Amino acid sequence: DIEIDENVTFTDLLLSEPVLAGLHAAGFKRPSPIQLAAIPLGRCGLDLVVQAKSGTGKTCVLAVVALEAVSVASPATQVVVVAPTREVAVQVAQVVSTLASAMPGLSTAVVIGGTKLADDKARLQQCQVVVGTPGRLAHLVSLGHLHLHCVRLLVLDEADRLLEGNFLGPVTDLASALPLNKQVLCLSATFSDSAAAQAEGLMRSPSHVRLDRDSPALLGVNQVVCRLQHVASPHLRQAAKEAELLRLLSHVTFNQCLVFSGSQLRAESVCHRLKAEGWPSAYLTGAQCQTERLAALESLQTHRCRILVATDLAARGLDSAHVNLVVSLDLPQEPATYLHRAGRAGRYGSRGAAVMLVCGPEEWYGARAIATLANVRLLLAGKHWVNHLA
Ligand code: ADP
Ligand code: MG
Repeated sequence: DIEIDENVTFTDLLLSEPVLAGLHAAGFKRPSPIQLAAIPLGRCGLDLVVQAKSGTGKTCVLAVVALEAVSVASPATQVVVVAPTREVAVQVAQVVSTLASAMPGLSTAVVIGGTKLADDKARLQQCQVVVGTPGRLAHLVSLGHLHLHCVRLLVLDEADRLLEGNFLGPVTDLASALPLNKQVLCLSATFSDSAAAQAEGLMRSPSHVRLDRDSPALLGVNQVVCRLQHVASPHLRQAAKEAELLRLLSHVTFNQCLVFSGSQLRAESVCHRLKAEGWPSAYLTGAQCQTERLAALESLQTHRCRILVATDLAARGLDSAHVNLVVSLDLPQEPATYLHRAGRAGRYGSRGAAVMLVCGPEEWYGARAIATLANVRLLLAGKHWVNHLA
């Protein structure tokens, strides 16, 4: 469902030879609409707020702009990319490294919490592109291990998330510790007015490339809210949802599935239940150590598991091409998070389905608020509702 212009290739974007070679090696031939719109402006050095639906290739936008901004002749850190979760940071660094495959001398480092701080010091030597999470980046700056005086590009991936709550402090501190004369790129599928204003606050002369401002809903993802029969006890409600989840999994065809749970403990227990029922499953929550977190993600990516049960830690940014079913067992804290969850099921125009199971009037109201944002159908549970997912 991405409208690719068949007449345009990356060659038309006047990129440097090594970056073109990197895109070619990655198998990217034609730019997606957001790449076509944002890469030329980013290359000119403009500060940009970049908004486009989930799965439409925003990582490649930031990677190309970063690689074009870097001089490999210098070993100094020139680009800093910030991501809200450790997993997204790792993934972004992988994309940058892949697209830099024809740039010998370019090195990318990932610095994230939950890993040994001492290792980062060595990792940051001679590294032009640094990708990290806010806390770890701030820590490394305060220790003097990360030098910022040569940074010419700051990128915030999932910027609206980074410009709120606990992240806002460390992210604005980092931005103001950077040279004044730098470019700033803020990317997300969703920007509230206040998030866009925060982003502009970091910029000298902001431009906007916002493709789906009024319709952030995903086109290729069949989205359904299913209302289960009301039960008063929270415990029975969870049981009913788990039973419906199991029924759903055995009735619809899917490749891989992401299940969202509002609580860490429940993510773990749902995963055990799924395993007991014979589904190869894993779980991913902030309660795990970093090795476990990355192992869970890897088991999804290597197809050792078919179902990953996660908290909203996995709602944003994760790109797993074979996930085509997303099930929400709880409402997200914020309606916008729903769009990010559902976005996991439709990477780069592929088709998928997203189901939210709700029980009781409160959740039903919440679901209706979400339905106005997204292209969601509201259904009542019954024997045949799963047919709507076909
Ligand atoms: P977003 O950040 O916008 O949600 P991603 O950057 O994670 O999306 O990209 C989603 C998927 O699309 C990735 O698997 C990526 O490899 C693929 N992709 C991105 N750009 C292109 C392109 N120009 N041609 C083919 N595939 C692409
Ligand atoms: Mg992304």
